[in-house]
Amino acid sequence: RRVSQERLRTTPCVSRDGVSISLLANCSGPADITHALELGADGVGLVRSEFLFLGGALPDEACQAAFYRDCVRAARGRPITIRTLDIGADKEVAGLTGTEPNPALGLRGLRFSLAHRDLFYTQLAALLKAGLEGPLKVMFPMVASVQDLERALAAVDEVRQMLSLRGEAFSKDVEFGIMIETPAAALMADELAARAAFFSVGTNDLTQYTHAADRVNPAVEQYYTPASPAVLRLLRFVARSAADAGIGVSVCGESAADPALALLYARAGIRSLSMAAPSIAEVKERLLDETISIG
Ligand code: PEP
Ligand code: MG
Repeated sequence: RRVSQERLRTTPCVSRDGVSISLLANCSGPADITHALELGADGVGLVRSEFLFLGGALPDEACQAAFYRDCVRAARGRPITIRTLDIGADKEVAGLTGTEPNPALGLRGLRFSLAHRDLFYTQLAALLKAGLEGPLKVMFPMVASVQDLERALAAVDEVRQMLSLRGEAFSKDVEFGIMIETPAAALMADELAARAAFFSVGTNDLTQYTHAADRVNPAVEQYYTPASPAVLRLLRFVARSAADAGIGVSVCGESAADPALALLYARAGIRSLSMAAPSIAEVKERLLDETISIG
């Protein structure tokens, strides 16, 4: 039974057995966010902030704050999660990322931010200010240990103090969560859940690192399997750890846009999926038609 596209857009995503799944969009900026809401997104699960840094000159605090503020405004009170800078590996930025012998295992994501404090603090200050515009969640990419998260949260505290000293207004309500993209983070999800406000599983990287298969190398495509028993086992543990700690967990890798994989992830306990906005209708149509709770 096919529902009309217009009905589909406004119908909440509830499976045949009554399980609600929120369908969010992966976006790159305000215009994209507006478009995603028109396509029926319940909110924005991932803004990849590195797009701001690709232009050449580094964006200063005011420029970043204006951009993040526009993103929050465009989300119109819906949930929105902005990710701190995730450069390195497949995301090269001229003048910032260096040459490393093995960049996917190098100084990328949060590691890069912790090694470039000036850039990190500027970004965090801009995000805390943008939080005055509406509900905002911020997440750190490429976390690989509880210590990584603790260092990142300590940086947030320092930036809050810095802004207070400067006498500048900022939001005290911005929530800080993490991406689960390394097997180490997935395996420590129960401990990470005690400190993170939420989880977002990046299946692009989690698959790459779990299966030791480069996400951009066609020669190992057959080893790059985002629905493998190994990835699903990690995902189930992450979902259970988040549920036990009472925090939210979503999946924001490209594989969430595949209706069959979206269903597997939902059955593994994931209740929020973030994807390229044009895929939302197709994923919703599939989930409306399926039962999710098994056993
Ligand atoms: C991921 O790794 O699944 C993810 C969403 O992050 P990116 O694709 O930007 O590395
Ligand atoms: Mg990633």
